[in-house]
Amino acid sequence: MTKKQWVVVRCNACRICHGSNGRYKKCPHCGNKIGETAEIVATVNSDAELRMEVAIANTPAELRDTLRDKLRSTDKLVSHSEPQAFKMAKWVQQSADENGEITLQRLSSLIATKNSDIAAEDLISMAETQGMLLRISENRWTLLE
Ligand SMILES: [Zn+2]
Repeated sequence: MTKKQWVVVRCNACRICHGSNGRYKKCPHCGNKIGETAEIVATVNSDAELRMEVAIANTPAELRDTLRDKLRSTDKLVSHSEPQAFKMAKWVQQSADENGEITLQRLSSLIATKNSDIAAEDLISMAETQGMLLRISENRWTLLE
């Protein structure tokens, strides 16, 4: 098994950070091309670290230390303690196929069965912000947990 390595990249356009394995070169949030000038915020070797670093990078600087402490002590994302976010994170996980991959179509059909009117795009973007998902192609994401 090859050693996995990911980076946390900050988009030059929207300033939101996302996880990247270097294969996908567009910002998942605004579609801006991620070039060599994009700021690499952190380099990590595990899914858990990537989730944590993305969450930390998207938190205002003055709150980061608090968040880092919290994440380290509970090993959980703070937002997961909110019931709504937790429920939606579960939908994202449930819509993954046997390879842990997700498409907008799969997620949309799952959301439809839950009588929710949230857009699959919004849910994906939320999951990406939390470092739960990594985009692997134009319309395909992989679960990091
Ligand atoms: Zn962006």
